Amino acid sequence: MTAGQSTAGGGGAPEGRAAEGGAAEGSAGIAELIQARVRDIADYPQPGVMFKDITPLLADGAALAAVVGALSSGHDGVDKVAGIEARGFILAASVAIQLGAGFVPVRKQGKLPGPTYAQSYDLEYGSATIEVHQDAFAPGERVLIVDDVLATGGTGAATVELVRKAGAEVAGIAVIMELSFLGGQARLPGVPIRSLLVV
Ligand code: AMP
Repeated sequence: MTAGQSTAGGGGAPEGRAAEGGAAEGSAGIAELIQARVRDIADYPQPGVMFKDITPLLADGAALAAVVGALSSGHDGVDKVAGIEARGFILAASVAIQLGAGFVPVRKQGKLPGPTYAQSYDLEYGSATIEVHQDAFAPGERVLIVDDVLATGGTGAATVELVRKAGAEVAGIAVIMELSFLGGQARLPGVPIRSLLVV
């Protein structure tokens, strides 16, 4: 396990603390940056949800560069970076460029034009399905999964299944923010998780 990564069962950081390691400026610096630039929107998209809005962070060039650097750090052996629709696309494509890797979109059902693998997962009410192109990965490729927020872990776990269905290997998951009170790590056993900020 490298600095800045944890695995399921490894315990999260205390409230508002950064996961260790990561960005060149240090984990405390990146955590403060994220806290300052990610905006809480209450009751969006439905009552009771505190939405973590990353658009102020994306609009700050220095903050965006620092976050992309921290998500990429230590992942030099990665062949592909998979981004989860839609905010994950922005971050994953940036990380892919930084790593010299390819980018793969993981999309909601019915959006990809070619033959796909699909994976369904439970939401609080109902279920959702995500897809990836069947030829998105070569067998044995190492894949880093990137998204903005890890909440219940359902989306991340479904993405791990898709990568494995396609014959590739999951190198890890990297997110800006992990909502540890929702227990997402428990749905991702054995998957290295880098969360730049754990709340
Ligand atoms: P989950 O499957 O519960 O881990 O949810 C993760 C996915 O839903 C990610 O793609 C996030 O972008 C989104 N998401 C879940 N909860 C939030 C939240 N509180 N604020 C922003 N995005 C969220």
